Amino acid sequence: MPHLLHVWPNISQRLLRASHVLLLFDYDGTLTPLMPNPGQANLPPQVRKHLTELVSSGKYLAGVISGRSLKDVVAKVGIPGMIYAGNHGLEIQGPGLDFVHQGALEQAGAQVQVTGELESALAGIPGVIVEPKGLTLSVHYRSTPEDHLDTVEEAFARVAAPFVESGTVRITHGKKVLEVRPNLPWDKGKAITMLQETYPQASLTCFFGDDQTDEDGFGVVQESGGIAVLVGPARQPTTAWHRLDSPGEVAQVLSLLAQG
Ligand SMILES: [Mg+2]
Repeated sequence: MPHLLHVWPNISQRLLRASHVLLLFDYDGTLTPLMPNPGQANLPPQVRKHLTELVSSGKYLAGVISGRSLKDVVAKVGIPGMIYAGNHGLEIQGPGLDFVHQGALEQAGAQVQVTGELESALAGIPGVIVEPKGLTLSVHYRSTPEDHLDTVEEAFARVAAPFVESGTVRITHGKKVLEVRPNLPWDKGKAITMLQETYPQASLTCFFGDDQTDEDGFGVVQESGGIAVLVGPARQPTTAWHRLDSPGEVAQVLSLLAQG
């Protein structure tokens, strides 16, 4: 799998040929390094500067597609004119676009119920953060000691089981995070397809992501002739055709793009 910077002349030619580019990023682990507490993951100033420049160029339709809530992503990035997709694309705001998945809204009550039950079941386990995000919910355990991990997973599985069995929700795993999502055929890939349809002027889509939930996006982007980039070590299995080592290298790519 080629490192994106090693094939940059080729990539930059493809970017040059496109009049408009849909330029999409995951947030945690992609635009910012992963932090013990997700509240600490702030957008590096250089990344903010380059994204702002790219948006104002008019060529790049830049966006962030995150598992965080839309409100949280907007609070973390907040650059005007960008596309923001929260809860893995269940809620999206962008130029001329204001979308919330109707099916997800309909099961928001189940999220409240699961949140309450998980908070009780996981209370007292060190380092666990139960984060309700409206349409989905995350249980973070990046700071949880190794010897408590089984307890976290068992309690999570026990609480989630009846909701999964009733067909209301589905469970996904990310890096030190478990998630409860509505059981809907919707993911980052579907969200990217919707963005491609909303912004047809973009003839090329690029998507950068580091985690399991980004894989849905990689597939869609590559099928459309775009560029999918896994951010992380080469040994990580992926469907993406390109990679970068770290969020630091993503910042380097943004700097190259901003130089035009
Ligand atoms: Mg990520």
